[in-house]
Amino acid sequence: MNALNTGKDSINSLWDDKLAAAMSEPELLLYRSNLLGSDFRITNFGGGNTSAKVQMADYLSGEQVEVLWVKGSGGDLGSIKIDGFSTLYLDKLKGLKARYRGLQFEDEMVDYLPHCTFNLNPRAASIDTPLHAYIQKKHVDHMHPDAIIAIAACANSKALTQQIFEGELGWLPWQRPGFDLGLKLEALSTEQPKLKGIILEGHGLFTWGDTAKGCYENTLDMIRRAESWLNANSKQPAFGGEKFPVLATEQRAAIAAKLMPLLRGKIGKQEFKLGHFDDSAAVLQFVCSQDLAPLAALGTSCPDHFLRTKIRPLVVDFDPANPDLDKTVSGLDAALEAYRADYTAYYERCKHANSPAVRDANPIIYLIPGVGMLSFAKDKATARIASEFYINAINVMRGANGVDKYVGLSEQEAFNIEYWLLEEAKLQRMPKPKSLAGRIALVTGGAGGIGQAVARQLLREGACVMLTDIDTEALAAAQKDLAKSFGKDSVATVQADITGEAAVEAIIAATSLRFGGLDILVSNAGIASAAPLDQTTLEVWERNQSILVTGYFLVSRAAFRLMKQQKTGGSMVFVASKNGLVASAGASAYCTAKAAEIHLARCIALEGASEGIRVNVVNPDAVIRGSRIWDGKWKEERAASNKIETDDVEEFYRQRSMLKLGVLPEDIAEAVYFLASDKSAKSTGNILNVDAGNAAAFTR
Ligand SMILES: [Zn+2]
Repeated sequence: MNALNTGKDSINSLWDDKLAAAMSEPELLLYRSNLLGSDFRITNFGGGNTSAKVQMADYLSGEQVEVLWVKGSGGDLGSIKIDGFSTLYLDKLKGLKARYRGLQFEDEMVDYLPHCTFNLNPRAASIDTPLHAYIQKKHVDHMHPDAIIAIAACANSKALTQQIFEGELGWLPWQRPGFDLGLKLEALSTEQPKLKGIILEGHGLFTWGDTAKGCYENTLDMIRRAESWLNANSKQPAFGGEKFPVLATEQRAAIAAKLMPLLRGKIGKQEFKLGHFDDSAAVLQFVCSQDLAPLAALGTSCPDHFLRTKIRPLVVDFDPANPDLDKTVSGLDAALEAYRADYTAYYERCKHANSPAVRDANPIIYLIPGVGMLSFAKDKATARIASEFYINAINVMRGANGVDKYVGLSEQEAFNIEYWLLEEAKLQRMPKPKSLAGRIALVTGGAGGIGQAVARQLLREGACVMLTDIDTEALAAAQKDLAKSFGKDSVATVQADITGEAAVEAIIAATSLRFGGLDILVSNAGIASAAPLDQTTLEVWERNQSILVTGYFLVSRAAFRLMKQQKTGGSMVFVASKNGLVASAGASAYCTAKAAEIHLARCIALEGASEGIRVNVVNPDAVIRGSRIWDGKWKEERAASNKIETDDVEEFYRQRSMLKLGVLPEDIAEAVYFLASDKSAKSTGNILNVDAGNAAAFTR
């Protein structure tokens, strides 16, 4: 990720002849695509495409026809499956040339592509399809390697291409991908049959080969040549050398954790956003350099880069040599206002009569000298990927400025891509966001039965979830399980004991650093104990108080402070117990603590209302399945006190309920979700019993 690699880090061929021997042409294309897409030095996430022209039998006539297999719209080469490719009749694609009416009618060509589909393949063809169709080579790769884009983004890109590749790579000036660029690639590759590929100015690389393996090796070879030439010829130090000191790791994390919720609140009034923090070596070198301000202002070059990161980042005013975070914070409103005004002016300058309406004018990328980079987007994966793209852009700027002068894409060209009607259509086709999209939830007792069920429900509804628990092993298992269903981006864990003040502060900081802030607190960590009053030790009493009262107090106080700073409201849900409302013989320590918990929730509801912070309670009863509380002594104690066998406990509680139903962790999760989400936007200070009916617990 860091430098343009040299020596042993160089990109090596991973082609396995034995593995490839048994593959069909489409399988070889898939194999090559996965190899190429798995290395970010070769192409960025979701960037680039690959193709093969394959002889196949026509479904109706049985005749052999030439079929273009090409990566379809969307998806990523590293993880693409065979159904990620679109298939098109090559002769029909060639026939489209007769329909082409010129540059200003480019977009209508996209509508013709579905008519060329082979074998009813439902995968939509991408706008890059003509770029592959008209190059008269069997196998074609189109990659976005940082090292090649560095050369493609130099002021003297054409001359450098000739010099470095000694005539083996051709060069085409910047042009938005589409039908016309396809024709230009065809013309150049036919006029100069010795070419092994073509560099597209400000964009990337085309390479080809007669076999899948030959094409793959050729692509790698060109990238390696670019890397080693840049390494041998780059001026040192990069970016004009260091201007700011790099702060220590913990300091960087602390500053980022402090700034992220503040920024998130300021840019998330219309739509909740997720944050990502990166302080990798490449980022630190850039944000601490002499060239930071002028290069950041130039904007990115490759279209993929700025579609993900906006035309330029916001450089946050912070001096790591004399850190004054209060000063930085007090200047954020003005800095964001200036950025938005600048973005709106760019829109107004560049818009066409039929351009889509201006989009969110807030920055995506935030560069902080001495600290690192923040990014914000509508979900965690998009925020993470945006920062990866900016690292690609940093690599490109370092490479280009090291050997020549880096040039960003012209403002009008950038606008034409950002507000391209085809891009807008893609955005309009996106599914409606889920009910908790953009929200961040913290679940205490997250490794237990109810905690995990709650996490699952919130994740299903689109939230990101931080789980905390005292049990390290159970926490790791819960994360693994949830990540399998919902992906690694949206779920994280932090081990902690919620009875300690510093530990609770650390949970909140970890949540801010990982996701950018906090919107939902599910306070669920719990224990239970049972003993007649005269046998209740002070230790047992204090243990109940420390976890169920002090723990709930500490976590909600810290969450409350953060939500107040963020200024976007919030929702807290306390998982209490029927026993908080109903006195139960032989469990005074537990019942009293649970009653205190419920009352604490009501007090916070009172103070939180003016801040838009809602606080509600869910009271479960006898949720036995998956519970660590019920696994232990509590079950035996309850069985003994009710004079039944331990195995009969579940049935006993079922029969005791009014509805004669067992209560499951998922039932509690459903109630928590309701209170956590906007579905209950007008409820605060309430109690929702989920106990299959218990008249003694009726609220009044
Ligand atoms: Zn491209």
